[in-house]
Amino acid sequence: MIQPPRIAPGGGHPVRVVVVGGGVTGLAAAYRLVELGARRVIPVEVTVCEAGPRPGGTIDTEQREGYLIEAGPDAFLTEKPWALDLCRRIGLDAHLVGTRPIHRRTFVVRAGRLHPLPDGFALLAPTRLGPLLRSRLFSWRGKARMALDLVLPARPADGDESLGRFVTRRLGREALERAAQPMVAGIYTADPDALSLAATMPRFLAMERRHGSVIRGLRRARDGHGAGGPRWSLFVAPADGMAALVAALASRLPPGALRLRRRVVSLERSPERAGDGAPAYRVALDDGSTLRAGGVVLACGAHEAARLVGNLDPDLAGLLRGIPYASSAVVTLAYRREEIAHPLDGFGFVVPKVEGRPIIACTFSSVKFLGRAPEGRVLLRVFLGGALDPGVLERDDAHLARTAADELRMLLGATAPPHLVRVHRHTAAMPQYLVGHLDRVSAIEQRAARLPGLALAGAAYRGVGIPDCIRSGEEAAERVLAACLGDRPAGEGAPAAAHAPPGRPHR
Ligand SMILES: Cc1cc2nc3c(=O)[nH]c(=O)nc-3n(C[C@H](O)[C@H](O)[C@H](O)COP(=O)(O)OP(=O)(O)OC[C@H]3O[C@@H](n4cnc5c(N)ncnc54)[C@H](O)[C@@H]3O)c2cc1C
Repeated sequence: MIQPPRIAPGGGHPVRVVVVGGGVTGLAAAYRLVELGARRVIPVEVTVCEAGPRPGGTIDTEQREGYLIEAGPDAFLTEKPWALDLCRRIGLDAHLVGTRPIHRRTFVVRAGRLHPLPDGFALLAPTRLGPLLRSRLFSWRGKARMALDLVLPARPADGDESLGRFVTRRLGREALERAAQPMVAGIYTADPDALSLAATMPRFLAMERRHGSVIRGLRRARDGHGAGGPRWSLFVAPADGMAALVAALASRLPPGALRLRRRVVSLERSPERAGDGAPAYRVALDDGSTLRAGGVVLACGAHEAARLVGNLDPDLAGLLRGIPYASSAVVTLAYRREEIAHPLDGFGFVVPKVEGRPIIACTFSSVKFLGRAPEGRVLLRVFLGGALDPGVLERDDAHLARTAADELRMLLGATAPPHLVRVHRHTAAMPQYLVGHLDRVSAIEQRAARLPGLALAGAAYRGVGIPDCIRSGEEAAERVLAACLGDRPAGEGAPAAAHAPPGRPHR
């Protein structure tokens, strides 16, 4: 049944917006609409349709037997301001905790043993000579090859290239295989030979262009950071876990705005008109009901968005379908401290593909954050799958749990079986930014801009991390509201395709 239009106090029709997807992106979009409505004193009616039984999508936290277990993300970056800023606005900043100041290092597995990533190694490249020379993670040949980055000429700018090719070209194959590949797999669950450098780590490309060398660029960036230290640690999380962010956002939406177990099954342009005369959308739900809205935010992943816009713009749907996704699993295991031989003097380890092992990384959760495990216990999170192990979710939970426990026995010297195991599956949850991704996203944005009042948001487009998802949701909300109100887009005269208003850099 189509809802009859309601007249808002003061005579105007309320602006109705439907947000498809109640993950962090959709919730951030919905909350932004509420904020903007209040600020502009406009009646905005937001409905968030979430297919699942709870909000949060990839984000969920479980409390069990004194452990705090994260199903997916366990922290967000403060360097990108959007998540922290939102936490301030919803009063959650007082509840954020940073990673612990001790043992802030990562190990890398080599020949079945854990070696610390040399001090000063910044994701792809070293910045300090002494620790690099002393490291047993790289061969002498590999170290010498990395140093060549200081003298090799910069490649003339000619479009996007893969992260794998970039690292091999500047720092050598060993830097890629032993450091960059496993570190990137830990963030993007991606194949570095397919991953777009421009879409994921443009700052390294900028360093090559600007300083002629990644190592020199990293050193300049390090030296340029002012003294005094940041107020926030680089990664933070709510003390009660990431679900607290979702709960805080959901609780700030008007009663009834969040509809759980409501899958949007189709989207059509309505022959009727929205409040200000613009065409409206008809949003059909799986319970047979229909919502009419002047604006729609699709925060449901690119493939689901493709399905929903299929009738409105088949070319847009094709572009969206072209963004591949990788699946992964997180196995969380708890032990008594004395059952783990390794000193656990780091935040975790990553496993290079060339090691041929079935896991990609492990986080020492109870070392990284306080309050994750009872006294005398440890909580470890093992990651499996990603683009280089596409069949991961064909294995059942018992198999995944056994694999993770076996690996911890071999790599950390676990002497007993874990006394608690939880398996969380993330089916097609991580979009893969392939070479050329930014061109695809620009084309998507241009086509989407031809559908007035409709916006796409989420991890598939311009950043997979939570801060980027929040920014993308908020910007989508701003665009949709502006379209519903007949406002000019940000940047007078700019086409609505300008999805990143000036002054809001994408990464
Ligand atoms: C294992 C893992 C670990 C991660 N770790 C971190 C981390 O530590 N820090 C970090 O910053 N980022 C991390 N990320 C990335 C980050 O968590 C995600 O990119 C982000 O949470 C995505 O949010 P989203 O709302 O865009 O999508 P999702 O969380 O996927 O939410 C989309 C929602 O849309 C719903 N939906 C889909 N179709 C429909 C429909 N037709 N109708 C209604 N609802 C629909 C789904 O049910 C889902 O709830 C991690 C990701 C994974 C997979």
